[in-house]
Amino acid sequence: MKSIAIIGSTGSIGQKVLEIVRLHPEQFRVVALAARKNAGLLLKQAKEFRPKQVSLFDRESVRPVEASLRKLKIRVGVGEEGLRESSTASEADQVIFSLVGATGLRPILAAIRAGKDVAVANKEPLVMAGELLLKEARARGVQFLPIDSEHSGLWQCLEGRAASTVRKLIVTSSGGPFLRRKGSLAKVRIEEALRHPRWRMGPKITIDSATLMNKGLEVIEAANLFNLEVERIEVLIHPEAVVHALVEFIDGSHLAQLAVTDMRIPIQYALSFPERLNHLAPSLDLVKVKNLHFEKPDLGRFPCLGFGYEAKRKGGTLPTVVNGANESAVEAFLAGKISFTAIPRTIERVMKRHRVKTDPSLADILEADRWARSQACRLQ
Ligand code: MG
Repeated sequence: MKSIAIIGSTGSIGQKVLEIVRLHPEQFRVVALAARKNAGLLLKQAKEFRPKQVSLFDRESVRPVEASLRKLKIRVGVGEEGLRESSTASEADQVIFSLVGATGLRPILAAIRAGKDVAVANKEPLVMAGELLLKEARARGVQFLPIDSEHSGLWQCLEGRAASTVRKLIVTSSGGPFLRRKGSLAKVRIEEALRHPRWRMGPKITIDSATLMNKGLEVIEAANLFNLEVERIEVLIHPEAVVHALVEFIDGSHLAQLAVTDMRIPIQYALSFPERLNHLAPSLDLVKVKNLHFEKPDLGRFPCLGFGYEAKRKGGTLPTVVNGANESAVEAFLAGKISFTAIPRTIERVMKRHRVKTDPSLADILEADRWARSQACRLQ
């Protein structure tokens, strides 16, 4: 029996984690839940799973449900402090993080320092501070497990083999909604960019998939997670989205991970690792899929992917800056303030103005993040 804490339990990944717990009650016990402000759903989850502790980030939202939670003898935390308590809950063996954007960084670090194994669904903390987080995890002997589907695929292919046996890692991309679109992308509407052909996800990551920034962030994530130079991480466009990742070993063998596009598969693997458990998702029907296609991405049309490589190559605070500028630009696009093609333009301008700080501390990273966001707002 593994005791888990879920940070971001009311979001789409958090709800899927609970679906898996519901399916395997003999394997997992929920000891802490944390949400930003969906108090109604958090209360429902608390009644069903009876954790020892819950926390809500938004103080206003906690008031109406506080009394009911206390009646259940559940400790209630609020704000930054509550989030830290849930992330380091003494009863937890593993903490699953799924917080939108950069907010997860401090709580993940706190969990690692408390000796918890962590499973991380959102890629921003790994992009911003991957080297720092992994260094801390290695120093404390805790597992750092990826939930991003491609990275889960890589990790399953690698099964702990040394980086010295790897020639390259390949992550695939469906190409997003504009893969076959002719002409300029300047006039793309918000609804079109939000219509992803393969995955149902939140708005931020869906826009990142349309610009291919998501893949740009994923190459940084993979380089950090698997401790490899970014040049050895390749992206292939694969419209069927059946093969999620491949590893080419030095002896010429390739191993690939294939599955239907269902986030419950990588989530469950992060929970059950090193075991495998039955799953809820439908089986992959290769006869129905019939053909698998692969092609090179077009970096001229989707420059954000190139920004990911450049940021990791130059290193230091540049990955943080790309991530922060992108979050800010995507927010502006979703608010109807800037065009689709202004997203890469803004990121590029902010990157050019940044003076990279090498070997950054957590404070340097947070400062670079703040700087990039304010620059992105000014340069839009
Ligand atoms: Mg992914």
